Amino acid sequence: RMANFPYHKTLADFDFSFQPSIDERQIRELASLTFIQEGSNVIFLGPPGVGKTHLAVALGMEAIRQRMSVYFVTMQRLVADLRRAYQEGRLDKRLRIYTQPKLLICDEVGYLPLDALDAANFFRLVSERYEHGSLIITSNTSFTNWGTLFGDQVLASALLDRLLHHATTINIRGNSYRMKDKLRAGVTH
Ligand code: ADP
Ligand code: MG
Repeated sequence: RMANFPYHKTLADFDFSFQPSIDERQIRELASLTFIQEGSNVIFLGPPGVGKTHLAVALGMEAIRQRMSVYFVTMQRLVADLRRAYQEGRLDKRLRIYTQPKLLICDEVGYLPLDALDAANFFRLVSERYEHGSLIITSNTSFTNWGTLFGDQVLASALLDRLLHHATTINIRGNSYRMKDKLRAGVTH
């Protein structure tokens, strides 16, 4: 699959009328990819099914269309991969997979709590990309809970400091698109 995307969807496939908490103009502005030229980040926050991964993939597909290097990884796979590399003494080399692309999309930060090694590896990745390559992150976990998520308040604030220094945060509040047809049919659970 292209750039390791879980699926191929574009902004044209996104129904903005379903998710009124999203400012369509802001997303279209992001799709100009100025944020990548500036090395700044985009963070999509919100509950499951509201379109975080879809929008991240759509921006990634636009970057590929403009011939930029893009790589997509879930947080779960990322930390597992870096952990294995660390244990095998090849962390520096392995990190390059994630530091080299012009745009790295890290999906689903917050679904799993991280131990100290995972947190340290992710911190290192964010530090190495800081002001040098853009990150798109999706998360269901608001920033105030990242201390708990990373098991370390000090590390979490240092991480957020770098991540948010040049960043756009998109907070999505709304219903899951996955539940759309069920809600329409009157099924509430
Ligand atoms: P999450 O926020 O959990 O990452 P996704 O972005 O993967 O959710 O969205 C779940 C599914 O619903 C995907 O197939 C996605 O393409 C679709 N989807 C979500 N929001 C919209 C929308 N506003 N318009 C069209 N499809 C959407
Ligand atoms: Mg998702």
